[in-house]
Amino acid sequence: MGGLFQTTPKGQGMSYRCDDCGEVSIPGERCYVVPVETREHTFPYRRNANFVRVGREEFFRDDRGGTGTQIVREVKVCGECVSKYEMGTPLLDRGVGGEVDG
Ligand SMILES: [Zn+2]
Repeated sequence: MGGLFQTTPKGQGMSYRCDDCGEVSIPGERCYVVPVETREHTFPYRRNANFVRVGREEFFRDDRGGTGTQIVREVKVCGECVSKYEMGTPLLDRGVGGEVDG
């Protein structure tokens, strides 16, 4: 089973600081990236946006555009915080945010 969130590759040997609890991880510990703020994004219709090749034929195809979700802000958290988040506790609810030292 893949996790719900994208994680950093294992064995990178780097530590990080959890954006939620502020604990510094031990090197190699898993880091979870959780989007905390998203917005609806509308992609415009673009004429001839995609180059397509079918056999010997080459042509352009329109991009229909549409709507999607765009990540505005994401945080790096430790495994403990991500499990709290999965249980319904919002992240960054302790006034952490903006530019903190470090
Ligand atoms: Zn944490």
